[in-house]
Amino acid sequence: KAVMEKILWRRSLHLRDQQHAWQSSLEGREMLEFRKNLPAYKEKDALLTTISQNQVIIISGETGCGKTTQVPQFILESEIESLRGAVCSIICTQPRRISAMSVSERVASERGEKLGESVGYKVRLEGMKGRDTHLLFCTTGILLRRLLVDRNLKGVTHVIVDEIHERGMNEDFLLIVLKDLLPRRPELRLILMSATLDAELFSSYFGGAQIIYIPGFTHPVKTHFLEDILEMTGYRLTPYNQIDDYGPEKTWKMSKQAPRKRKTQIASTVQRLIFTEPDKGVRKVVLATNIAETSITINDVVFVLDCGKAKETSYDALNNTPCLLPSWISKVSAQQRRGRAGRVQPGECYHLYPRSVFDSFFEYQLPEILRTPLQSLCLQIKSLKLGSISEFLSRALQSPELLAVQNAIEYLKIIGAFDESENLTVLGRYLTMLPMEPKLGKMLIIGSIFNCLDPILSIVAGFSVRDPFLTPLEKKDAAEAAKSQFSRDHSDHLAIIRAYEGWKEAERNFGGYDFCWKNFLSVQSMKAIDSLRKEFFSLLRDTGLVDEHSNTYNAWSLDERLIRAVICCGLYPGVCSIVHNEKSFSLKTMEDGQVLLYSNSVNARESRIPYPWIVFNEKIKVNSIFLRDSTAISDSMLLLFGGSISKGDQEGHLKMLGGFLEFFMKPDVAETYQKLRTELEELIQM
Ligand code: ADP
Ligand code: MG
Repeated sequence: KAVMEKILWRRSLHLRDQQHAWQSSLEGREMLEFRKNLPAYKEKDALLTTISQNQVIIISGETGCGKTTQVPQFILESEIESLRGAVCSIICTQPRRISAMSVSERVASERGEKLGESVGYKVRLEGMKGRDTHLLFCTTGILLRRLLVDRNLKGVTHVIVDEIHERGMNEDFLLIVLKDLLPRRPELRLILMSATLDAELFSSYFGGAQIIYIPGFTHPVKTHFLEDILEMTGYRLTPYNQIDDYGPEKTWKMSKQAPRKRKTQIASTVQRLIFTEPDKGVRKVVLATNIAETSITINDVVFVLDCGKAKETSYDALNNTPCLLPSWISKVSAQQRRGRAGRVQPGECYHLYPRSVFDSFFEYQLPEILRTPLQSLCLQIKSLKLGSISEFLSRALQSPELLAVQNAIEYLKIIGAFDESENLTVLGRYLTMLPMEPKLGKMLIIGSIFNCLDPILSIVAGFSVRDPFLTPLEKKDAAEAAKSQFSRDHSDHLAIIRAYEGWKEAERNFGGYDFCWKNFLSVQSMKAIDSLRKEFFSLLRDTGLVDEHSNTYNAWSLDERLIRAVICCGLYPGVCSIVHNEKSFSLKTMEDGQVLLYSNSVNARESRIPYPWIVFNEKIKVNSIFLRDSTAISDSMLLLFGGSISKGDQEGHLKMLGGFLEFFMKPDVAETYQKLRTELEELIQM
């Protein structure tokens, strides 16, 4: 122990020397000058004192004031200065991988270091951290996974949860877990950082925790609502009836001749470009999603156009259906968008809606936990051994509806992850080891049991990345035709397997890019699938489900019927019946009645499907209920692979299937069913 202490002492001394050397170098001094101009820097002493005296503190300040890059750094610097450098361990969570990676890079460079020295990052599949990393930026998910194996966060001295105003599900969940942990770890410091004004909500959640506001300086931003814009520009509004995806709706059309053309430089997807200064006489236009609202700061923005909408998922617990609808943003979001204009000089914001609409906005956006299905969350609660799910969730900042919780538990029972008393089954325990939605996790597990792992890996990886099939608007038909080449057999899942295998083959001959270009596939997605497959494979190996030395796990990989059956096993109870009529077919689920296919599904282009059922990844309510990513399956696949396969529940499974088949009144199926049922029962007896 004494030896260990000596080593740590030496390392701490070394860290302090390094820090001093940087701070007195020319570059270091310049960097410090920059940092000193950030509003957060002026609060440095107050922040550090408050952190040392309180277990929980909340820091609130305007986006760009220096919370993310400075606060963790202040703590690290002060720990190193007091010769605790080698024993401190600061974790700062970010809701997104991209911010964890870019912020850590920035902080390392502000310290004159390379990533992986005292500052590192860790996100799924990637990381950069070394023996001497004492400040780690990671995604919230990574910290949650660490809690799975290390429930007291041994050795961690500070946890910083960033961007809590976003109210992501992971962050809300993490806060409940940390709140329970605090009494067990009295030395641990918890710092919550938020961009907007709801700090009181978090403070009262932690029993009146201290709040520090970082006063920010922003230039005045002139605000225009739609009525002002019309007056300024002379545009007129003419009402007309428009019929779009969301049904007929009264809309206003603006009319006037096109304004004078101006040279513009458009940089929307290339992230780095948005930070660069445009050439002289060129105007920079940034097309941004919500990400530019709080997580990234583009300093030279002067004009903001705010459409007032965000495409947001919500969850209809009563019908157990996720919805994706564009909806009005909250007042806080509108103010936040406006604030982006006044960073370096006075700016202007054009809200493209009337003031009366703004007045009707909600104050804050609904937290994610209230607008998402809760299956993965419930599984996580059980795997962290946090007791009764509904009791645990009742302690959240805002608790989800009881019905939403019940739906999730019911689902987990149906797929066989929970037993009747909500305990994890064997399948459930395996699922908690896999970082993906339960249906995809189950597909992987079953795929490895049935020795057809390779294709299933491609499917699961394929649905964990951005849709690899591109559909550029102007070449929609060609793109869809290209996709249907990959699936002559009524399955979006098999299409992914073929696309990936085709790309892999072409890649071996150095033709990967050409292949993607010809077939409207995304190269990035293909590469991401490739690395995810490896990652998932090693996870399965760690769980003991596959033995990498025996090659049996691919023995049946070419059996397309088996692959379909495994897909069915993963996606059940996401199944609907195909009802053919003369010219085409319609689809029905038991709960919703008629449902439709998304137009990018290979099945949406068919007029007949020679199968009785379709299993699907998810259903989403837009105006009607749409199914996303589907595979047609046969009766016997559904009968044998649909439902719970956990031991001891076969009877429940049979009953449910029986009800299902009766509902759709397919007499010929009932016959097959009887036959299979007898066989199954015999099997069970054995
Ligand atoms: P907050 O978390 O409060 O929104 P940040 O700590 O992310 O603020 O950023 C503070 C400031 O640091 C920004 O206003 C910007 O000027 C600067 N900054 C942040 N990231 C970078 C970067 N990658 N390159 C250059 N400057 C950066
Ligand atoms: Mg930040």
